[in-house]
Amino acid sequence: MPKTAFVTGITGQDGSYLAELLLGKGYEVHGLVRRASSFNTGRIDHLYTDGHNPDARLFLHHGDLSDGARLSRLLVMVQPDEVYNLAGQSHVRVSFDDPEHTTNTTGMGAMRMLEAIRMAELDCRFYQASSSAMFGPSAPPQDESTRLEPQSPYGVAKAYAHQMTRNYREGYGMFAVSGILFNHESPRRGETFLTRKVSRAVARIQAGIEDYLYLGDLDAERDWGYAPEYVEGMWRMLQADEPGDYVLATGRSCTVRDFVVAAFEHVGLDWEKHVRFDERYLRPTDTHVLRGDASRAERELGWRASIAGTDLASIMVDADVEALAHDTQPYVDRARVPGWPAYS
Ligand code: NAP
Ligand code: GDP
Repeated sequence: MPKTAFVTGITGQDGSYLAELLLGKGYEVHGLVRRASSFNTGRIDHLYTDGHNPDARLFLHHGDLSDGARLSRLLVMVQPDEVYNLAGQSHVRVSFDDPEHTTNTTGMGAMRMLEAIRMAELDCRFYQASSSAMFGPSAPPQDESTRLEPQSPYGVAKAYAHQMTRNYREGYGMFAVSGILFNHESPRRGETFLTRKVSRAVARIQAGIEDYLYLGDLDAERDWGYAPEYVEGMWRMLQADEPGDYVLATGRSCTVRDFVVAAFEHVGLDWEKHVRFDERYLRPTDTHVLRGDASRAERELGWRASIAGTDLASIMVDADVEALAHDTQPYVDRARVPGWPAYS
């Protein structure tokens, strides 16, 4: 029998790659989608088949992580074998402005999913999208036993969801696991995260559309990996014999500055002529070194990252140069429109 998966956050970067992976393995995939006033399925449109088609294996359902009753009804209806909880407010900088919403979705949303599974007595496996942001300033390299010291509302919300997942595993015997994923990027990365903001800007500067890129902290170090490799790791966690938490990371880190230099150099531009500082992009707490030790995942799941750091700059810049060449929309630099939130 083909398996059935339920994926929250299916319209996001990871959800779209995970849906591709699961459909490729023959799964029936059900995704949770927020109702929006404009289409928000751009990352998965290429996967969609009309539901009237007897071969359709991707089904979308409206819902929100803040609505526990809806989540319960959907899970009872779908009866999934595997549940991947990837949804939530995922931007660290935004979480400082919107801590209540971040806690409600990124933190309590996971509890609502776990509780819905428990109350319905579903026999399914649960994956929680935990984050290296839970580690804050804990010394690198960070692994599954590193102390959690989150320093943002996002990191605190993720730590709550992480601990709840462990509690449901230990207290109720659920197959519930957390993947502690370090930053992972791709051409589908949200446009306001550092790597994508840089790759889009490099494409526009090279095309002569604009001259400057405004950034905050250039000294922070991140362990940047490639998102399609990370969703494979998520799937492997749910195929393991025993449930457990796993770090997924490349084991290498570079600074924001290193990434910026590589992205500009890739198209032959001098970054110092184009990058300017704007304090709006600083966070109240940052400049950590996040560098993960994924040896448990390699040992027990056979998972290993192959693409890291500045390699991603070339992949992402090439994709944005290509996208710009086909973009017919007039470009507006939202970060410079007075009154527009500068959360990028
Ligand atoms: P993303 O691109 O920002 O996607 C977030 C997804 O959550 C989107 O589908 C979004 O829907 C959905 N969502 C947001 N609020 C929701 C709500 N209240 N109810 C239902 N759906 C909601 O994030 P990502 O990069 O794919 O990351 C996936 C997960 O892994 C997130 O939980 C993130 O925090 C975590 N994570 C990511 C990284 C990373 O480096 N990418 C690292 C560690 C952990 P819309 O499309 O409608 O906005
Ligand atoms: P994060 O690690 O989850 O916060 O992922 P981001 O991609 O949002 O940020 C990565 C790093 O880049 C953080 O240390 C940020 O402080 C730093 N950074 C510097 N300038 C910017 C900017 O303009 N936008 C974003 N998003 N991050 C920036």
